[in-house]
Amino acid sequence: MQRHYDITEWLDHLRGFTAGDRKTALDAHRRQCNACDATADWLARTLADTAGERNTVVPEQVLHNARAIFALRALDQIQVRRGLLASLVFDSFTQPALQGVRSEQRLDVRHLLYDAGAYAIDVRLEHERGTPAVTMIGQIHHAADSGRHVAHMPVTLTSNESVLAQTVSNQFGEFTLKYTPQSGLGLHLGAQDQAQPES
Ligand SMILES: [Zn+2]
Repeated sequence: MQRHYDITEWLDHLRGFTAGDRKTALDAHRRQCNACDATADWLARTLADTAGERNTVVPEQVLHNARAIFALRALDQIQVRRGLLASLVFDSFTQPALQGVRSEQRLDVRHLLYDAGAYAIDVRLEHERGTPAVTMIGQIHHAADSGRHVAHMPVTLTSNESVLAQTVSNQFGEFTLKYTPQSGLGLHLGAQDQAQPES
């Protein structure tokens, strides 16, 4: 799939500042991307709410929420052991909370669940208010047995092929990464530098 569009691009689009091929591409992307559709929906509602306030170009709270949503953009891809790509199975921004899990309506926390064959990856993104930083708290476990965690697995966060942060999962399969929001985020689980035997 083509890269996601960021919140300022959706804002321009919804305000009618896009045309031609670009307009077609944005509309087509929105139809096939839940994450961008949710962003655009939210922005459209916000614009409708503030339509009467023409003089206050964009209210500060709207900008704050927009920045938080942009900061907490979902990962574009998760790759396990240089091969398998994980698929997103739950996103707190676009889906109702799982039964039995407390609903998170906060815009400064995003909860994502990924399925990668034998592994399941739980990712929580938190935006630190007043800073550009995002903290990612993840946990890797075996899909067949969520009580079995994947310990000591190297975790690398990249943006368009450059490394932003690296760590290793602890004995509970947990890892924490801090980064500044970027486009084209990828999370790579397992050794990156050279092929390593399965452990
Ligand atoms: Zn998208």
